[in-house]
Amino acid sequence: MRPGAVLFVDGWIAAVGGRLDAPHDAVRMHFGGATIVPGLIDCHVHLSDEGLADATVRDAEPPALRVLRMADHARRTLHAGFTTVRDVGGRDHLEFALRRAVSDGLVSSPRLVLAGKIVAITTAGATAWRGMYREANGRWDVVRAVREQIAAGADVIKLMATGAVLSPAHERPDAAQFADDELRAIVETAHTLGRRVAAHAHGVAGIRRAVEAGVDTIEHGTHLHEDVAVARTMASRGVFLVPTLKALALIATPPAEGIPPHVGAKARERLADRDASFRLARREGVPIAFGTDAATPFNRHGENAGELLLMRDLGMTPLAAIGAATGTAARAIGRDDLGTLAPGKQADLAVWEGDPIRDLSALARPPLAVFLGGLRVV
Ligand SMILES: [Zn+2]
Repeated sequence: MRPGAVLFVDGWIAAVGGRLDAPHDAVRMHFGGATIVPGLIDCHVHLSDEGLADATVRDAEPPALRVLRMADHARRTLHAGFTTVRDVGGRDHLEFALRRAVSDGLVSSPRLVLAGKIVAITTAGATAWRGMYREANGRWDVVRAVREQIAAGADVIKLMATGAVLSPAHERPDAAQFADDELRAIVETAHTLGRRVAAHAHGVAGIRRAVEAGVDTIEHGTHLHEDVAVARTMASRGVFLVPTLKALALIATPPAEGIPPHVGAKARERLADRDASFRLARREGVPIAFGTDAATPFNRHGENAGELLLMRDLGMTPLAAIGAATGTAARAIGRDDLGTLAPGKQADLAVWEGDPIRDLSALARPPLAVFLGGLRVV
């Protein structure tokens, strides 16, 4: 291991190196035998939900209680070394209130990049998750749905380009959703207003159509391996894949009972596809950004780093996996000010015991310290 030092001034990184000439009045902190890592970024979470086998049991709770749970999920995530999360589907816009509470200093949280409600066609899943979807059909309705999210405070637009695994049995993850003109209208509206677009997509037809419409990230991408041309287009246009390996793994082989049988079956059928698509994406040079889908069954906030180990198990080096959760993740969410230890970047970083390049599981343990905008928060 080499000695490393980071100097920050007013929340921003001023210098990085082996030995730094810091001003004599600088506050100095030493962490012997530890590794400094840029604050980790999870590009796919749902802070509104906690990873229950069946999330609908919380639907009858008062919104105030849900917001308090969201604050707890945010704190757990920050304490695990994640200094930024992109929430790609909240509930009833409660996440925007959470962000106000964070900026008022009431809640300890990673930086929040928020989508608001998920824009989706009328489908079974849109009614199964109360308050999470904005159903929209036809060109003008989808435009309006996008504008509503942005007016409420959305930084990114999330759309459903295929069915989902957690939806009722008859919604098929391999079937595409939205017509091409609807997809184009969503992307055009979001991009006009300076927002990026994240597309949930399992089936390859939905992935292809979303990429053609100009989305910025493909979430899950489970059946991408069925058409190498789509992967090549993603690579050449710089469309990111957020594979969320953990979500399908924990549904297919859950640590406890309680997942509805049809949901488990949809996941088990697709595990081999997920692995093949991840490998194909790496081979074809598709940029891969870290995301867990934290909130799916048994996929708990604060245990996000488990995704790194699954990426490693599918052939990524520890350094590449860390890159997916830092520099590449920052690019995927359009935040040039985050993701690397370099002068001019936000002083978001975490310090872990040991050397994660040798043993990636070091990052799955609690960090020794977490800094957010230069302030030590853990
Ligand atoms: Zn999700």
